[in-house]
Amino acid sequence: MTRRPYIVGNWKMHGTRAMLSEARAIDRAAQRHPKVEVAIAPPYTLIHPIHREAEQIAVGAQDCHEAEGGAHTGDISAAMVADAGATFVILGHSERRQGHGESDALVRAKAGAAFAAGLRVIMCCGETAATRESGEAVAFVRGQLAASLPPVGELPAEIAERLCVAYEPIWAIGTGTAATTGDIAEMHRAIRALLVELLGEEHGPEVRILYGGSVKPENAAAIFAVPEVGGALVGGASLTADSFMGIALAATEPFVS
Ligand code: PEP
Repeated sequence: MTRRPYIVGNWKMHGTRAMLSEARAIDRAAQRHPKVEVAIAPPYTLIHPIHREAEQIAVGAQDCHEAEGGAHTGDISAAMVADAGATFVILGHSERRQGHGESDALVRAKAGAAFAAGLRVIMCCGETAATRESGEAVAFVRGQLAASLPPVGELPAEIAERLCVAYEPIWAIGTGTAATTGDIAEMHRAIRALLVELLGEEHGPEVRILYGGSVKPENAAAIFAVPEVGGALVGGASLTADSFMGIALAATEPFVS
């Protein structure tokens, strides 16, 4: 099965209601390019306003708590973001793993909560510059991903629809320097092999693997031409409709996914 390329904007902690006009522009442009699946993960406060107006794009959250509810001041559950209109959640982003001390076990618990709430999950993984320099990047990412996904018996049956993996080398995030296409190819091949090992021949080949880390309109086409790249998770360049849709347009060209 060839899946539509999936282009997801991670707005991080950017965006007040003034950004709604940008979301509208992205939604209008996405309506003209239905061959690409376009989505935005804004801050929690904008999930519902964007969901209410969007006709084409999906809206997601950037995190959720692992518990269903309770005394967790300042946190938000998977069911709450789903109630606000989110259909997916980004989990295990390096800014959460590093900035909030999230372990693989915690990310795994969050993924279980998100699946239970009916959300799709974009599971992030990626190595530091030091790990890459040590030659251990592939082994590290395999281990991190395997430990961050719930055990196979606890995954939803339609896992290929509900799970997406985002490979995001930490040294490429927000630096302006994307990984080389060779490094992306090697890592995506390794992630695909792991997904087949974990999920089997039926589902493993169908889960989309996104690349993230300084994707821009200028480098997007080359990245999308890499085998096993099924789209992109985009930070800085997703904040304006012009640059974000420039990336989405690069994905409208046929590419192997
Ligand atoms: C991200 O944080 O998910 C990301 C890919 O950021 P950027 O595109 O800005 O490197």
